[in-house]
Amino acid sequence: MKYIIALTAALFIGLTNILFAQNQYDSVEIKTIKVDDGLYMLQGAGGNIGISSGVDGIFMIDDQFAPLTPKILAAIKEISPKPVKFVINTHWHFDHTGGNENLGKDGVIIVAHDNVYKRLNSDQFMKDFNMNIPAAPKAALPVVTFNDRVSFHMNGLEIQAQHFANAHTDGDSVIFFKNKNTIHTGDIFFNGFYPYIDSGTGGSIYGMIKTVKHILGQIDDQTKIIPGHGPLANKQDLQNYQHMLAEVVKSLEPLAQEGLPLEEAIKRDPLKNLNETWGGGFLKPEKFIEIIYATIQKHTKK
Ligand SMILES: [Zn+2]
Repeated sequence: MKYIIALTAALFIGLTNILFAQNQYDSVEIKTIKVDDGLYMLQGAGGNIGISSGVDGIFMIDDQFAPLTPKILAAIKEISPKPVKFVINTHWHFDHTGGNENLGKDGVIIVAHDNVYKRLNSDQFMKDFNMNIPAAPKAALPVVTFNDRVSFHMNGLEIQAQHFANAHTDGDSVIFFKNKNTIHTGDIFFNGFYPYIDSGTGGSIYGMIKTVKHILGQIDDQTKIIPGHGPLANKQDLQNYQHMLAEVVKSLEPLAQEGLPLEEAIKRDPLKNLNETWGGGFLKPEKFIEIIYATIQKHTKK
């Protein structure tokens, strides 16, 4: 119930592209996109889900919102009759972990970075949306957590989660399907639009740029990339995104150095050359600047 209140509250503050009121989940359809043999991306509402299916069962990355669990499980059943063994959370946000409680009660092992456990296990506040997120119930909490990296050996694959510090949050993981040349980036990568960066829980645009660079060094032109949000991507898409993030920093740092407060910085329309390509997502340019400007101000003071 607490969750539903939080979700409904969120609706009023304009997160409508990633959040829905309870009854609006009814109209959500889960779309299955085949990435490779035994690998799928599921899209519904919230973060993209990654699926490995094979002899050992289902390995799942992220689980969107609780009301969608039956539809998500039905979509997985179309892929394979085998049970879901593990779900790994790429970070703590509710549009990626909302199904945890249902899956946990079903006996699915929930895995995440140590900081995801900490944040799900205590009340959180998302300052950018003035939104309180109550601590998750026990069944929704990860039962296995890790610090740096963890590998799963199933379905003939090595599925490795690597933690990257302080990018989108303080608990981000990127999942590498080692022998399939496919990765799931979580919300380090919003394909095609300005990303949300949750500096209230450890995110930073500088950390995000560093992490994207690190990921680019580990992939090639054939790599398939499941982003946190947006369509299936390739290396070129991630390079374009990195270029955009670098341009954003280059455009905002001089304004912060000049000592301009946020409102004045926004008035200068500093991202005007990027907005047409990147400003059509759930974060409008002004809101995106608002979300990252304090981090840039702090950085330029150093
Ligand atoms: Zn997120």
